[in-house]
Amino acid sequence: EKLLEYGFPRTYIELLKNRGITRLNPVQKSAVKKGLFNSMNLLVSAPTASGKTLIGEMALVHNTINKDMIGLYLVPLRALASEKYDEFKELEKLGLRIGITTGDYESPAEYLGRYNIVIATYERFDSLLRLKPKWLNRIGVVVIDEFHMIGDPERGPILEMIIAKMLSSQAQIIGLSATIGNPDVLAGWINAELVDDPYRPVELVEGVYDKKNHVIVFRDGRREKIIHRIGGAALNISLQSISSGIQVLVFVHNRRKAEEWAFKLSEHMGLFKHLIDKNKLSEILEELKESPSRLEREKLEYLISRGVAFHHAGLSSVARRVVEKGFRERIIRAVFATPTLAAGVNLPARRVLVSIKRYSPMRRQTVNIAVYEYKQMAGRAGRPTYDPYGEAIIYDASSLSEGLKFIHGKLEPITSKLNNERSLRIHVLALIASKDANTLEEIINVFKNTLFVAEYRDLAYLKSTIDIVLDDLLEWGMIESIGNNKFIATKLGLITSITYLDPLSVNRYLENIKDNVGDLYYLMLITQTPDYLRSKPYISNKLVELYEEEALELSDEDIIPEPPKTFEYYDYYVWLQSFVQAKMLHDWINEIDEDEIAEKYGVGPGDIYSARDTASWIASALSRVEKVLGNTVRANNLEKLSIRLEYGVKEDALELVELQGIGRVRARTLIKHGIKSLKDLASTPPSKIESLPGFGSRLVRSLYEQLREKGLI
Ligand code: ADP
Repeated sequence: EKLLEYGFPRTYIELLKNRGITRLNPVQKSAVKKGLFNSMNLLVSAPTASGKTLIGEMALVHNTINKDMIGLYLVPLRALASEKYDEFKELEKLGLRIGITTGDYESPAEYLGRYNIVIATYERFDSLLRLKPKWLNRIGVVVIDEFHMIGDPERGPILEMIIAKMLSSQAQIIGLSATIGNPDVLAGWINAELVDDPYRPVELVEGVYDKKNHVIVFRDGRREKIIHRIGGAALNISLQSISSGIQVLVFVHNRRKAEEWAFKLSEHMGLFKHLIDKNKLSEILEELKESPSRLEREKLEYLISRGVAFHHAGLSSVARRVVEKGFRERIIRAVFATPTLAAGVNLPARRVLVSIKRYSPMRRQTVNIAVYEYKQMAGRAGRPTYDPYGEAIIYDASSLSEGLKFIHGKLEPITSKLNNERSLRIHVLALIASKDANTLEEIINVFKNTLFVAEYRDLAYLKSTIDIVLDDLLEWGMIESIGNNKFIATKLGLITSITYLDPLSVNRYLENIKDNVGDLYYLMLITQTPDYLRSKPYISNKLVELYEEEALELSDEDIIPEPPKTFEYYDYYVWLQSFVQAKMLHDWINEIDEDEIAEKYGVGPGDIYSARDTASWIASALSRVEKVLGNTVRANNLEKLSIRLEYGVKEDALELVELQGIGRVRARTLIKHGIKSLKDLASTPPSKIESLPGFGSRLVRSLYEQLREKGLI
């Protein structure tokens, strides 16, 4: 057995064998050779599906078995964390304890110390580094998935700070990344050996659609004439691929187009309908019924029955899962997806159609995407073990030569995004609050380990931004100077850092809050924070401007905060935008139907979900701030608002939604039938509840079980 020589227990070798892994592939071997099991820091830069996860996994298993230390696996998104958790759960067969932590930024989570392997998002681990649970010094290895995120304007600086801190610990650092342009620079930064291998288990054949001659020209010299003419190139190629039994994943930069094209293609799917496995189809459509939106259900049911679907961030999580599953099980033959798919789940396809053009709202024109973005999408082509090779085809190049520029293009280098006020004020406050650094020198010292400094070999730029940031934090009352260039965090600074909010969010809130204001006022203070604005759902300019008059009237009546006093149109526009966002959330907590909200604001159920998720977190965090400042009235208002945002309910339903299985719709049904509290429910016979719409016998049994646990029966 080849794998035995690495000293793994037989049970693990067996487990790998069951997954079809009997020997290491070239990238993995190279990682081992460069010190994977000898505590060397490694940066693995290799194509998608080349087996990078296993490199991380083996390091984690090795670390646990030989050192009894904790291993961390860090990912950028919550969805990825649960995907990895499901994957690693299998290791429990070896007696390893696997844990996951993604939300709840305020909990030091000492209990995580019981696990051997912990999966976390970057953000969550960053918050843990501030809270300092005891187990931090028992971390033996940190695997960082999607290492190229270091160049992301939002998550990059967080990752950079995590690494800067871990570099001065004992832990082995293993970065995993899709191919990057400057791996040597990044590897140098983290003192890592570079494992830079172009090996791909499934060969990738790239091609460009030449629209003049209606032909796909592949890199390997093959040509494929496109004969179908049902619409644009993406549609014609899709139909032709499906006709030859090839599944396609089509990347489209715009949601509306993705949906439109899916419907257009579905008109031509009559011939394929009989090929779809009826049992699997009905199973999938059954799952789709769990979607919270009627509109979404109807659209997708229609499409999926014809073997087509779309996929974008506006979908509910149920619908996203259904589309992914349907595609994997080959019920869905073509998916029109926005590029968020390429950054998130693992959904490979034999043939991927890539768009290299995107509309830039800033520049008000179509622009070409980066080579790096193209490669990310193209890398999705080819399913390991199923396909002999994968094909990535650029379908919207203006000319053959433009397309070839992407295929042969050099990847852009990844650079630090740390030097901006937002990132630095967050991290400087965190350093002072957690007492990791208290003087300017100590602060600067931590930043010495960042990629920014590795790139510029100079701290001057950073220093000048840090100066600005320190002034702001002093002015906002979050830190105090205690002489000798020494700073300590105030009560406000401490709690701000613990909540994980941007200090500016807290400052803006405190400057604008008043007593005796209503829900809409609070909501708008929330939607005006940078923490909300950075991930807000898109609402079109046209729609926003439609609400201008209403916004001005409401601000005259003090129902919402005043517009900014600057003369910048941009600031005014953000105020208007925040108003419309707040209005949308206000509809949500007043139990307006989700489809109605979606239609009114031009958003999808997935957008509503993420907007209320963020808003609920901010409300709860601000509530903690108010509590520390001693304002219990406001703290309570915000706490209530946070729960209402989470469930989308009016105040009278807050008690009922405590029960698992009761959401906004069922709570309202109960209240309409006179059941207004848990006590009311406990004294109602189950048979009566079962007769209400939406209450099956299994749910009712679970409800009474929960009431019993609460001691109410
Ligand atoms: P990456 O993380 O590089 O995108 P994955 O870890 O998802 O790639 O690996 C892709 C697939 O290849 C997985 O299904 C995995 O089980 C399989 N795989 C990884 N290493 C090997 C190996 N040495 N032999 C056979 N299959 C492997």
